[in-house]
This record gives sequence, structure tokens and C-alpha cells, in this order.
Amino acid sequence: MKRWLNLSLEDLRTLMETIGQPAHRANQIWTWVWTKFVTDIQKMTDLPQKWRDELSQDLVLLPLRLVDTLEEDESIKLLFQTMDGHHIETVILKQDEATEETEDPKKRLTLCLSSQVGCPLGCVFCATGKIGFARNLEVDEILGQVILAEQVLQNHPHLFGLSLPSQRKISNLVFMGMGEPFLNWENVQKAIRILTSPKGYGIGYRHITISTAGILEGIHKLTEWNQPIRLAVSLHSPFRMGRERLMPISKTNPLDDLMMALREYQDHTGRRITFEYTVIAGINDRREDAEGLRKLLFPFKYLFNIIPYNPVEGIEWETPSPGRIKTFLRFLDEVGISATLRKSRGRKIAAGCGQLGLIWKNREVKL
Ligand code: SF4
Repeated sequence: MKRWLNLSLEDLRTLMETIGQPAHRANQIWTWVWTKFVTDIQKMTDLPQKWRDELSQDLVLLPLRLVDTLEEDESIKLLFQTMDGHHIETVILKQDEATEETEDPKKRLTLCLSSQVGCPLGCVFCATGKIGFARNLEVDEILGQVILAEQVLQNHPHLFGLSLPSQRKISNLVFMGMGEPFLNWENVQKAIRILTSPKGYGIGYRHITISTAGILEGIHKLTEWNQPIRLAVSLHSPFRMGRERLMPISKTNPLDDLMMALREYQDHTGRRITFEYTVIAGINDRREDAEGLRKLLFPFKYLFNIIPYNPVEGIEWETPSPGRIKTFLRFLDEVGISATLRKSRGRKIAAGCGQLGLIWKNREVKL
């Protein structure tokens, strides 16, 4: 079976030559896929019919199938099935503010992408972590999420009351769905290179965010790569023990080393870091947490997002009440941290901060 979506345009052109086709066939296919989001080879009408018939036998351009959608609170969750029968999720989100001053917020949609089937890191508050890990996603499975989301959006040009552009409708990509992107870095990086290709999808590096649980090696690699990709780090506690309790990965990627890697990243790139903080009632919303955060974050240029914990079945922790969130915001303000409260949109969707789950309309979907 041929999986050509894994290839960059240059590699596709080389492949065309090796199979005896003119190199410009690669550009034709690339244009159909990345500007029109057409993945059915039979619909690529400028390719010879005979060749289309041949390719239809064993070419797979889209290795995912959309099996369900769920809409709530200005977000749509898409459930995809892979060719080997796994399920992954992607979320289309309306954003509240622009990434850049020149950006029109009325045209802004973010796509939250998965990088793995499940996640091996097992953060204790996370629905994805609870369901375990199956495998890394291939490059075309990462890209397929973008194409299928764009296909869905072609039929909804005024989704959430926005006036979306006629071609690419997604303005921002965040690797914040299922999985830890730095544990599948080779494929994630290749997918980003394809997505940013100016001859194709053409999204800017600045509009892509990698969200990590704090994988040191990955942060070092991103620092070396030095593309203007945004980095978001799930922090969840300013204390070593507290963080290890919530995120077992921080036993092998300790908080002190994480902070050092982030300092290097910021010294090297000059870019601001976004810290994500899931607030769990009575666990990490105390005054001492705010004070710990001040000590930890003062050397950084950063954004600080707090997200109320979404309840996960089988975990006894509680979502903080609005009053409790207000108090925590006051604690943060008193220590000089200006925090943004992210809307807890999509309670059923459970989107945000690695809390994608696989409960669909009251039916459980297996990884
Ligand atoms: S929060 Fe993120 S890193 Fe942690 S288990 Fe969930 S998906 Fe994995």
C-alpha cells in the first residue's frame, strides 16, 4: 500500500521520477491535497484517468476515517479511526484572542492535534493518560487530522459566527490532543515541515504550538531547531513532590532540570513560554502554590494559563468552584502573576490540557 501523504513535496517529486512519471505530477497532487483538501485520487481531474485508476488500487492519501463529531461551547470534537482500527481525537476550537496583533480574531480557529494513540505518560488527572498507550501516529495520520478538519470546515464557512477564509480555515495548530508530541518528535517535526511548506498548506511556524508535559530531550531539540514555534509546558504544580504526584514523568524529567532546559530555550530563542496549569480543588490552588509559582517563574517571559480541572471518571478530585478559582486568581495576582483563565469550554467534549477522553455520547470507544 502506498502512503504518499508521508512525503514532502521534494520527496514526492523524486518518487515521481523513480516511477517514470513527470515530476510535475507531484505538484498536481500536492495542490489538490493542500489547497483544495481533496484526497480522493479519482477527483484529481488533471491527472491521466488511466493512472488514477491504477493508483486507486493501492494508494491511500488519507489513512483516517471520520467516524463521529460532537459539538459544544464553540468547539467541535472529531473522532477518527485509523486504518488499524484505533481511535484518536482532534478538536476544532474557536479562540478568544488573536495570536498576533495583525490577526483578525473573527477569522481565528485553532485545531488541537493528537500525536499518539493514547499517551504513555499517565498524568493522574488526565482521561487520555488513564486509557493507556497504543502507538505513535505516523506523519500522514497527523496530517490527516488537519485535512479532515479542513474538509469538515469547507461545509461550515460561518462556524461559530465567524467569517472564515475561503481556503485554509484553520489559523492555529496546537499539539495538545492525545499524546506527548516530544515522544513522537521525528514524525511531529516532519508533519510540521510539510504543514509549513509555502507551496502547500502554508501555515506559519508562529501559528504552531507544541505542548509538552516537560520532556527535557524534546525541549533541547526544539531549542536547537530554532524555528519560531510556540512552546507550552504543562506545569500543574510549582513543587517537585507535588508535580511528581500529578505527573509521573517528572520523576525522570525533574522540575529543576525542566526549568533549566526552559531557561536555555528562552535564552537561545528569546521566545515567551506558555505555562499551562490545571487547577484541582484543594490540590494546587492554595496560597503557597501561588507563592511557589512566583519563585519558579520570575526569571521567565511567559504567559500563564489556568484551566479548571475537568472531572474524569474514576478520579475523585474536584473541579474548583468559580469562587475558588477567583480566590486562586487573587493569590496569583498578589504574587505578581498575571494569569488567564481559559474557558472551560466543552465539558462533554473534555477538550483542553490533555484531558481528551474517549467517552462518546455515552458510549465508550476503544483506543
Ligand atoms: S496530560 Fe498530556 S502528557 Fe499527561 S497523560 Fe494526558 S495526554 Fe499524556
